[in-house]
Amino acid sequence: MVKRALLSVSDKTGIVDFARGLEKLDIQIISTGGTARILRDAGVEVTDVSEVTGFPEMMGGRVKTLHPMIHGGILSVRDDHDHMGEAEKLNVELIDLVAVNLYPFEITVSKEGVLLEEAIENIDIGGPTMLRSAAKNFKYVTVVCDPGDYGSILKELRSSGIVSQETREALAVKAFRHTADYDATIDTYLSKALLDEEVLRMNFNDGVTLRYGENWRQEAKFYTEAGASGPILANAKQLHGKELSYNNYIDADNALQTVKELGQEKAAIAIVKHNNPCGLATGNTLYQALGSAWDGDPISAYGSIICSNTVFDLESAEFLNGKFIEIILAPGFEPDALEYLKNKSANLRLLELPELNEEFEVQETYKYVLGGMLKQTRNIGIYEKWETVTEKPYPDELRSLSEFCLHACKCVKSNAVTLAYEYDEGCYMMLSMGAGQPNRVDSIRKLAATKAKENLKVIYDREKPDVSFDDYCEDILSKCVMASDAFFPFDDSIVHAAENNIQYILSPGGSIRDEEVIATANRLGVSMIFTGMRHFLH
Ligand code: 5GP
Repeated sequence: MVKRALLSVSDKTGIVDFARGLEKLDIQIISTGGTARILRDAGVEVTDVSEVTGFPEMMGGRVKTLHPMIHGGILSVRDDHDHMGEAEKLNVELIDLVAVNLYPFEITVSKEGVLLEEAIENIDIGGPTMLRSAAKNFKYVTVVCDPGDYGSILKELRSSGIVSQETREALAVKAFRHTADYDATIDTYLSKALLDEEVLRMNFNDGVTLRYGENWRQEAKFYTEAGASGPILANAKQLHGKELSYNNYIDADNALQTVKELGQEKAAIAIVKHNNPCGLATGNTLYQALGSAWDGDPISAYGSIICSNTVFDLESAEFLNGKFIEIILAPGFEPDALEYLKNKSANLRLLELPELNEEFEVQETYKYVLGGMLKQTRNIGIYEKWETVTEKPYPDELRSLSEFCLHACKCVKSNAVTLAYEYDEGCYMMLSMGAGQPNRVDSIRKLAATKAKENLKVIYDREKPDVSFDDYCEDILSKCVMASDAFFPFDDSIVHAAENNIQYILSPGGSIRDEEVIATANRLGVSMIFTGMRHFLH
């Protein structure tokens, strides 16, 4: 039974309706200064806390409810004979419901130029104490710290006359989390303000259990960061398909970050496998971009994750007929495309993220290592300078293709090398890439160059151009640009690129052997730009 309620709120949202609802249920209301005033003005009958404690609210409001008459009323164990005897002897009246929300400390300290004194005055003492008292005694007391819960509590009280044990437990946990977060915010602020220390504190919502981790025998969960907003995977709505797996989260996040590198000027598609984009293209239509991204590595695209910067249409959906895909992530799906894809497979995960093309709000990334966490700012930008370092000039016409190639390279695991090609006017594709090799030369020789030819063979066989395959390859590779995520430590990479007829190279530069590398480029007739910006990705 709820007979008496104490209401003391800083955020007065919904408090009048809540109090009216309680009053109608014959629940007596006790309240602190500002809250009591608002309730009285609305015609609700209120007993002042000062009347209960026999003390005025004092020290400018610092001490209002910190009193045994209040905390005895909240904390007493109703089933304990001694507790109840003491309460009776000392005239402590029981308080069965506590609705408190706290001084807005976080809002106060997020204001620019806030003074320490103002921040300190906004540290609520009595509020958290009441929340903790009530939450500790959840067996008998209902604690409400979120105005969003007023409605459901009234509903429960009206229908059954009580607040159920289950609800009280959930509300108690919520209250402790609230006071914990509140103290954490104070710690973060004061650590900085008084000690000039930075405290890393991240809040995560309750995790979703995944079927397994990276492998079947590993347990796994996905936690979303509380309050994180913007075009992030956590905000995507699943329209169809199996639940996401651990690996799906990693790859879909990579696909999202990769496609966003390409902006919105053209339709763009990223195809990701094992945390690397294996296909990437822009196109005049989504269908064109998808086809060209697919051509970047048709073998690896099997079982891949696709991210599009454009609403997914039927033509593109039909392109995927007979192809095994894990996820399609897009800002939306045309109704006919959605229908088609739903019928294609019960398992295909379709994720809709309407804000996909908005700017990222998250500006930092974290990586857990055993026993520690690494934090860094996001890798933003693609070059710091644009310096031709070779005798052979770097054509201005290749600027936009080169930028595409750098965006691609930035999203591929180190040592990364990407080859990009303008397959249609103003439309670019990643012809191939070399990823994750512990040396750069293998990324070119064994991967990017070899794979470029394999991929071109597929296109050649399909399009049957009127030239030999060797001539076809030579022609296309001579028009490609190649980007490297870090400097060339030796000139061997240049030699292998030139052997494969690659003539335009982008590198951050900065090796102690730069001169040797440039001399080799000059000797082999290669044109090279130094960008001054490295893009390691681990
Ligand atoms: P009101 O606007 O009703 O005057 O004050 C409500 C606020 O006072 C609530 O945010 C509540 O957490 C806070 N509060 C209640 N009791 C005390 C107390 O004893 N000391 C302090 N510092 N704050 C209190």
